[in-house]
Amino acid sequence: MFDLQTAIDQAKRITFMTGAGVSTASGIPDYRSKGGLYADKVDPEYALSIDNLQAHHEDFHKFVVENMYYPDAKPNVIHEKMAAITNQKGTIVTQNVDGLDRKAGAKHVVEFHGNLYRIYCQICRKQFDYQTYLKSDVHAADGGVLRPDIVLYGEPINPDTVNAAINAIAQADLLIVVGTSFVVYPFAGLIGYAQPDATIVAVNRERIALPEGAQMVLGDAVDVFAKLHV
Ligand SMILES: [Zn+2]
Repeated sequence: MFDLQTAIDQAKRITFMTGAGVSTASGIPDYRSKGGLYADKVDPEYALSIDNLQAHHEDFHKFVVENMYYPDAKPNVIHEKMAAITNQKGTIVTQNVDGLDRKAGAKHVVEFHGNLYRIYCQICRKQFDYQTYLKSDVHAADGGVLRPDIVLYGEPINPDTVNAAINAIAQADLLIVVGTSFVVYPFAGLIGYAQPDATIVAVNRERIALPEGAQMVLGDAVDVFAKLHV
């Protein structure tokens, strides 16, 4: 019988692969999920695309400001336990752009899709705080359009980030997938870099497609992580 606590205790290097489900317990909705907040209003994949940013930066800005920022969100028990575990022996590779892993104190984090709270001007590359961006998406000094440092639909992922994620996955003897249905590529394809003898386990309410031999821990990740001793 597979036991997650034992697997964590015995592992030498643990890599978590996480998605929106980790942050929904912190009050951040999953914009991709069915019946999500704006499912019937706008197509979030277009709203968050490089095409929209380039063609209609005001619309892009409005969507991002109204739907993406939750500055008061606090890390939950999943973030906290993952931070404690990976600070000892591992890495978190996350699709989330909310920065909650770092807020929880995690030191080894690969933000695969970037971070919403890092803002830069597309002309001069100067960095801005997000509060400035909430008020305006134009850098008055040069007229450049500001944007968050996240990977938009239609944009490639930074090769250094991809390499960091691959290294974290290739070095792990235990891979734990949390809060993601694992359907979004290229993120889901990262699992292919796991060592052949690595233990792969997913924590999810429903079964998800995983490589042969992977373990499923069925249940709410909040409950599962609350019980872990680290
Ligand atoms: Zn500028």
